[in-house]
Amino acid sequence: MRTGGCQCGDVRYAVRAAPRQLYACHCTECRRQSGSAFGLSLEVDRAAFALTRGRVATWTRPADGGGRVICHFCPRCGTRIWHEHDPASATLTVKAGTLDDPVDLSDAIHIWTDSRLPGVVIPDRARRYPGEPDGQQA
Ligand SMILES: [Zn+2]
Ligand SMILES: [Zn+2]
Repeated sequence: MRTGGCQCGDVRYAVRAAPRQLYACHCTECRRQSGSAFGLSLEVDRAAFALTRGRVATWTRPADGGGRVICHFCPRCGTRIWHEHDPASATLTVKAGTLDDPVDLSDAIHIWTDSRLPGVVIPDRARRYPGEPDGQQA
C-alpha cells in the first residue's frame, strides 16, 4: 500500500493496489498546474484509491479529446492531489510528488514531449510520445 498527502497534512490518501503507469507530462497544462517543468501522474485503479483524511476541493477543465478533467486539491494549502476524468473511467491519476515514498522515474513514460521546456533531458531509453498517447488522461 502507498500513502500520501498534501503539503500542510490536512489531506491524506491511500492507494491499495499496484499502480498501472507513471507518466511525466510535459504539456502546458501540467506545467502551469505544477508550477514546474512537468507533471507527474501515477495512474491507479479508481477502486484502489481512498481519501483517508480531510476534504478536497475541486476545479474542472475541458479534457483533450472530450469530456472534462476534475482536479482535486487541498482547500487549505492548494496542493493538487489527483485528477479524474468525467465521465468516469476505471482509473484516476495521483499527482506522484505527493506520495510519502518517492517514485522511481526510471520507467516513467514521457508524454507531450514536443512541448517540453528547453534544457529538459529525457533519457534515451524512456518511452515517449510527442503528444497524448491513446487512453491516457492527464
Ligand atoms: Zn493541505
Ligand atoms: Zn499534462
